[in-house]
Order: sequence, then C-alpha cells, then structure tokens
Amino acid sequence: MRRDQVQSYLVGGVNSPVRAFRAVDEEPLVVARAEGPFVYDEEGRRYLDFIGGWGALILGHAHPAVVEAVENAASRGICFGLSHPGEEELAERIAAAFPWIDRVRLVNSGTEACMTAVRLARAVTGRTLCVKFEGCYHGHADGFLVKMGSGGATLGLPSSQGVPSEIAGTTVVLPYNDEGMVRRLFAEQGEEIAAVIVEPVAGNMGVVPPRPGFLETLREETRRWGALLIFDEVMTGFRVSRDGAAGRFGVWPDLLCLGKIIGGGLPIGAVAGPAEIMDLLSPAGPVYQAGTFAGGPVVCAAGNVTLRVCDEEDVWALLERLGRVLDRHLSSLEGVSYVRCGGMWSLFFLEGGAPLDFQEVQRQDSAAFARFHAVLRSRGILAPPSAYEAWFLNTAMDEALLEEAARTIREEVEEARRG
Ligand SMILES: *Cc1c(COP(=O)(O)O)cnc(C)c1O
Repeated sequence: MRRDQVQSYLVGGVNSPVRAFRAVDEEPLVVARAEGPFVYDEEGRRYLDFIGGWGALILGHAHPAVVEAVENAASRGICFGLSHPGEEELAERIAAAFPWIDRVRLVNSGTEACMTAVRLARAVTGRTLCVKFEGCYHGHADGFLVKMGSGGATLGLPSSQGVPSEIAGTTVVLPYNDEGMVRRLFAEQGEEIAAVIVEPVAGNMGVVPPRPGFLETLREETRRWGALLIFDEVMTGFRVSRDGAAGRFGVWPDLLCLGKIIGGGLPIGAVAGPAEIMDLLSPAGPVYQAGTFAGGPVVCAAGNVTLRVCDEEDVWALLERLGRVLDRHLSSLEGVSYVRCGGMWSLFFLEGGAPLDFQEVQRQDSAAFARFHAVLRSRGILAPPSAYEAWFLNTAMDEALLEEAARTIREEVEEARRG
C-alpha cells in the first residue's frame, strides 16, 4: 500500500505536498539518515540526492562543520527570542555578498521573506498591484497563489481554494521572459503597480534562465514608473554565484529575498535592501513584521558556518566544475532539453530546445519523466519527484560520482523516451 494511503495523522502523509511523490506516481521516500551527497532510506538503501533539501544544502548533508556549529550553538541555548551576536554576523555576511544592501531582516522562511518584501513595496509606493510571472514560486502567501487570468495581462485568479478573489486580484500574472507584455502592462497601468517580483533564474518550473534583456527590462520599467523590483533569490542566492542571479546578470533589484542556503539547512528567510526602504520595517518604521524564532541562535550558527565555508572553499567554482561533468554528458542528449545555471539544473522531456516560459515547460512529457524518475530511483539516484522541480548540486558530490550518475541518466533518458 502507498504510504500516503495508509491512515496517517499527517495530511496526505506529508508536511509539504511535493514529498508525497504524486507527480511521479510513486511512494514517498522515507529517509532514515543523510550524509554528504547521499540519503538513506529505512531499509538502508543509498541514493545520490539531487534534491539536496530543495537547494538548501550547498555543502551536502550533515557537513561536519555545520553539525558542529549547530551542536555548539544548541548547547548555549536553543531559543532566546532576544538579540545575540550570531544574527548580526549573518546579516553582515549577506550584506558582504551584495554591496548595495544596507539592511537585512531575518525571517523563518522564503514565504515570509516574499510576503514582507511585497508589503514593503506597497508601503513605499502607496500602490496595490504586484506583478508576478507564471511558473515562478514565491511561497504560499495568499497573493502569490494566483494563476493567469484569460488574456494574459488580466488580473490574477486564485489558484488555491481559500484565497479570496479580492486578494488574487491584487496580483497581475505575466508570462516569464516576455518583455513586450511587461512594457504593455506598465504603459497601461504603471501608476498602479507597487512591485514586480521575479525569480531572476526561474527554478520552480524546472530551470528557466532569463532571456538576455528580460531582467534589464524589468529594471528599466520599474524605475521609470516608480515601482519596486523584487528579486526572489530564495533558491538562486549563493547558488548561481556568490552574489546570486543579480550579480550573475548584473541587474540590481530594490529588494532581495533570500532563504534556503543562508540557513545551512535550518528554516530561514531574509529580506534585504537599502536603508531607505528597509528602515520602514518595524520597529524602525510603520510596516509591521515580527517573528518569535526569527534569527534564532541555532539557525544563525548553521548559516554563518555555511557561508564561511562557501567563501573559504570558493564553492561556486567547484559547483561549476561539477556542472561541467553533467554538461559533457547531457547537453547533447536527444529528445530532452538539459539546462544548467551554476549549481542548479533541469532535464525537460521536451523537443525543440530549452523552454522560455511556463507554457513551453508544460509541453514536456510528464509521463516519460515519471518513468525516468522511478528507474533512477531503483538505480540509486534521487531526482526531484516532479518534472517541474530543479535538480541541485552540492560540494559533497565529486566528479567521479557525477560522471557515473550522468552515464546512468543518459541510458535511462533513452529508455524513458522509448516508453
Ligand atoms: C523555496 C522557495 C520559496 C519559499 O521558501 P519556503 O522557505 O519554502 O517558504 C520562495 N521562493 C523561491 C524562489 C523558492 O525557491
């Protein structure tokens, strides 16, 4: 019997939907432990893990320095709900990577970071509308659970029950990578737009990098119309380069959302930006935001040691070397499209080149992906359990492991395509 059909106190058998493995029609993987590049199930089977805590684990599982820092911090007190030196250090480390940042507010999740950034943008501009792009994920706050209305640039419709249409209607959804639609929307409604929020490399519909000029257009139009540009770098921050997608593409937003890697595997999020915007947050300013656990001592210890090791070992160069092993084996594969940006990558079962937006992503053969996923799993490779999720590299992997994995992936792509 599937574990998610067994009577469970957990809703759907899980605490977050993708873990149910429904998109690939498999049983959930129940993890007993994890170390380095591997996770182990309850039967002791070992899997090379490309989920990597959904991108949070840039140093791999249970990195000794992170474990030690967490143990030490916990032994000095797990929760203060008060100030401590580790939070200042983490804010400093984040600001050091993004020179235009004066202030950081640590929160408990990427969801909170994005929610807070949009609230700030509305406060700064006195406007309501938030523009997002189809296929981008910014957490599960009401205003982000919105799908495209008919006709493209119409106001959003709720994509989840329980989201009031009044709230969905404060979000406008546009196709990713479509500069023309962005220009048109601003020309028509520029004075109502508080913010544009975007994953500067989309990673929640598989990896879809920005087309040259797309981010620049967002920067230009938001500046012209007095709206704020928010980069949601919860996934890409410290992953596609030290200074994120902003640094990689040389486009600087007004507000930056971070998460995942900066917590070293513990729950975290952050909003960051210049003082004139950030100082609107309470207690400095009138925009309310708070958190019992925000910037706690254990998560800050994990984040600080992670970012320190990243700098000391120049992990971005290392991830690039690992990525090139995959490039060699996978970029010439037929019938699939392999896309990589730094330490994140995707395989789309799709002919005709890399997809540019969600509509193109949706043309992929999800049934072929599901077959592929199951066979990889049986061969000890854990791919993300959905064709719409990114695969992640980490520094616990090495070239030999990836060489072997890439060969297996090659073989099984061909098989899965045959059906
Ligand atoms: C993971 C993710 C979030 C949500 O972060 P949580 O910590 O799961 O709330 C938001 N935006 C992006 C781009 C993400 O990848």
